[in-house]
Amino acid sequence: MIFRSLTRRREIGANSYLLQNKNHRMVLDAGMHPGERGFDALPNFSLVPHDSLDAVLITHAHHDHIGSLPVLQQRQPSAPVYMTEATGELSSAMLHNSVNVMTRQREEQGVMEYPLFTHTELDQIRAKWNYHPTRKPFAMGRTNVECTLFDAGHIMGSAGALLRENGKTLFYTGDVNFEAQTIVREADFPREKIDALIVETTRGDHARPEGFSRRDEKERLAALIRETYERGGSVLIPVFALGKSQELLVTLHELRQLNLIPDMPVIIGGLTTKITLLYDQYASRVRRSYEGFRIMEDMGSLVAPRKGRREINLAARTIYALSSGMMTEGTISNEFARRFVTQPNNTVAFVGYTDPKTPGWRMRNAKAGDVICLDEKKPPVEVRCQIESFDFSAHAARETIVDYVRAVQPAKVLLVHGDAPAMDWFAGKFSEALPNSEIILPEPGEEITLW
Ligand SMILES: [Zn+2]
Ligand SMILES: [Zn+2]
Repeated sequence: MIFRSLTRRREIGANSYLLQNKNHRMVLDAGMHPGERGFDALPNFSLVPHDSLDAVLITHAHHDHIGSLPVLQQRQPSAPVYMTEATGELSSAMLHNSVNVMTRQREEQGVMEYPLFTHTELDQIRAKWNYHPTRKPFAMGRTNVECTLFDAGHIMGSAGALLRENGKTLFYTGDVNFEAQTIVREADFPREKIDALIVETTRGDHARPEGFSRRDEKERLAALIRETYERGGSVLIPVFALGKSQELLVTLHELRQLNLIPDMPVIIGGLTTKITLLYDQYASRVRRSYEGFRIMEDMGSLVAPRKGRREINLAARTIYALSSGMMTEGTISNEFARRFVTQPNNTVAFVGYTDPKTPGWRMRNAKAGDVICLDEKKPPVEVRCQIESFDFSAHAARETIVDYVRAVQPAKVLLVHGDAPAMDWFAGKFSEALPNSEIILPEPGEEITLW
C-alpha cells in the first residue's frame, strides 16, 4: 500500500491523501484551503488520473476536509464516497454555502474560476454518497479494503477510519479530540495494535497550561459575560458556524442553568442557524452529551434573525454568536464588529483558532485605542472595547495524542494536518516514545510505502 499526500504544502490546509495498492486507488478527505483562493486552494488532484478512483472517504464536514469534494467527484465520477450520515447532511449544507461564498468572491474579488461547482451539481453528486455508522465494517466499493469508522470526538459526525487489507491495518485519525466537549463526547478510537497511523498534529506547537481545565475556562467566560452585563455592554463571540457555534450555545445554556450568567438574549446569524438545525435534527441519533436537547427550541434565550436578513441590531446586554470565527471579510461577524468594537462597554471574546492572515487575528491581538483594518475596502476602525481569548479547542491536546500513539504502537507514523513547529514537536516526541517505529513527515506528492 502506497501513501501520497495531495496537499500542496505541509500545513493545515486542503487535506487530501491518496492510497494506492496493486489494483485500487482511494482518497481520504478532499479539503479546500481556507487561506487561498481559486485553483490554489485545491489539493493537487492532477496526481490522480481521471476516473481512476475506486473510493473516497470523508472524515468530517469541515471545509479543510470536504471543500473540494465536488471538484474531486467531477474528475472521478465513478468513485463511491463514504462517510457517516451526520457528516453527509452537514457537508451538503456547508458545500451549498460554499457555492454562495465563491459566487460572491467572483463578483467582489474577481476570482474568475469561481464558483468551482453549482447547487445543481451538488444535488447530483450526492447519488454517490454512502452513509455508514461507526464501528460497523464495510467494503470500500470494489476494492479489497474493509473500512470501519470510529467516533473522533471533534464535531458531530466526525470519524477516524480503520482500513484493513490482507491482515494489515491503517488508521487515519482525521481531526480528533480525546476529551469531551460540551456536546461532543471524547473520541472512541480502536485500541488494538495498528500497522500504520496517519495522525493530525494541529496542537503540537504548544503544551497545555499547567492546571488547565475546560470547566475553569467556562467559568472564566461566565465571569467576563457578567462583568460586561453589569456595565451595560454586550458580548460578541465570533464562531465557526459548524461545531464551535453549537458547543458555545449549549455552554451558554449550561452557564445560565448554573446561574453563572444573567438571563440575556443570544443572537445567532448566518450559516450558524442552518447548521444548528442539523445538530438538533440529530440530537437523539448520535453519540453525544445533552442527548435530545434541541438548541433552537430548548434554549429559551436564543434569537435567530429572519431568513435572508443580514443586518443585525446592536442592543445592550446581549450576546452575539456570529460566524465566521476568523471574522473573514464579507461575513456577519466582520460587518457587525465595525459598529460593535467602537463602544467601550462591549467585549469581544475569541473561543477558537484564528489564522494570522485574517481580520480575527488582528482583532484578537488589538488593544483598546488601536486602529485596525477589518476589510481593505472599508475605512479602518478604532477598537475601544475589551478583547479576551479562551481555549475551547476541538482538537486533541498534544499529550493525549502521544498517549494514543503509545497505546496502538504503529510501525509507521505519518504526521499530517499541522504547521512545521507542531510536526517537529510530535516527530521528536514519537521518536522517544516509539524507538522502533518509523516517523514520517510526508512531503507533498512523495510516495511512501506503508507495507
Ligand atoms: Zn475539523
Ligand atoms: Zn481540519
